[in-house]
Amino acid sequence: MTFPMLIGVAAQHRPTERPTTPFNYDRMRDAGVTHVRLGFRVPFTDESMTTTTPEFQLQEREIDQIAASGLKVMGYTPHPGGDPDIGGGYPEWGGSLGSAGYLAHYGAVSEWLVDRFRDVADAWQISNELNADLFAGGMTPDQGIAYLEHGAEGVRRANPDALIGFNMAGFGDTAMAMYRRLLDPGGFDWDYIGCDGYMRPDLWPEMFDRLKAISDKPIIVQEFGWASAGITLTEEQTRSIGRFSARLRCEYLGWPRDWGDHEHTPEDQAVYVAECMEQFLNEPRVAGVLFWRWDDAPVCWLCGRPSSTCPGTGRWGLVDEQGQQKPSLDAFAEGANRLRSRAPGKEVDSRST
Ligand SMILES: [Zn+2]
Repeated sequence: MTFPMLIGVAAQHRPTERPTTPFNYDRMRDAGVTHVRLGFRVPFTDESMTTTTPEFQLQEREIDQIAASGLKVMGYTPHPGGDPDIGGGYPEWGGSLGSAGYLAHYGAVSEWLVDRFRDVADAWQISNELNADLFAGGMTPDQGIAYLEHGAEGVRRANPDALIGFNMAGFGDTAMAMYRRLLDPGGFDWDYIGCDGYMRPDLWPEMFDRLKAISDKPIIVQEFGWASAGITLTEEQTRSIGRFSARLRCEYLGWPRDWGDHEHTPEDQAVYVAECMEQFLNEPRVAGVLFWRWDDAPVCWLCGRPSSTCPGTGRWGLVDEQGQQKPSLDAFAEGANRLRSRAPGKEVDSRST
């Protein structure tokens, strides 16, 4: 199958962020974006799959706008844990969490979603970061693997032409063990390996090597990003805190020091984007990159304070909360351009035959 260079941004408004400015899809396209990445909310009111929820219907209208703008969707299917606004809170339909009935029902819901959006969503990520407790919602890694495989089979039943992959949060022990199991040649024949990394840009080659040691499939960077506001802790503070959770950002109103002297400013965010894009250009296996995320948000969805106070979730955008360009947008557009001009004629054979 042909595998075009996929350039995307996460663009999805959560009511808890109190967005004021609609997405400017034309501007995304001008920046080289081909795909909007978003998580689908649980579509139905109950397991009979007969009535859709109002929250899902809002997403349907959003997808209509994306389709009208000429962009495509990289969608992800729901997950048991995490924020319901982006697909979290998937219920125990068909059976208890992880049971055979539950997995089969999840496959059916995934199939329905893909069929519903077949014209606009040509690339899918099954669920999200199931190595992370936040999204796994109590499933063990084994259950998470079965969940991903059942979702993927549902997607392929509905649309055999859609690209199908999955992503892990980072490259730690659980993530790598799940990558190894999922990419075993006897398992589901994934089209791409998705990965999410929020680390120093120069660490990407080592992380790509870890994935390449497991599989020769194309790699899509599903998430990378750097917040453009908030304090940066000292090295001593960073060491003494240890593991820095998302909640701790809201407590410290900032970030650990993990990229040398770089701070969390709009200028350093642009440098971060440019340096990551350089790493992606240097890795021929990369078949797509998606930035977290398109725009800033007025309110931190974790703690509910204005993003001007807590930058935890709302200062990751290429444009600000009014839709105005930040320095990172040019860095992204330039990298996207170079990645896409690398792509023509290079077709990656992803499915084993
Ligand atoms: Zn916060």
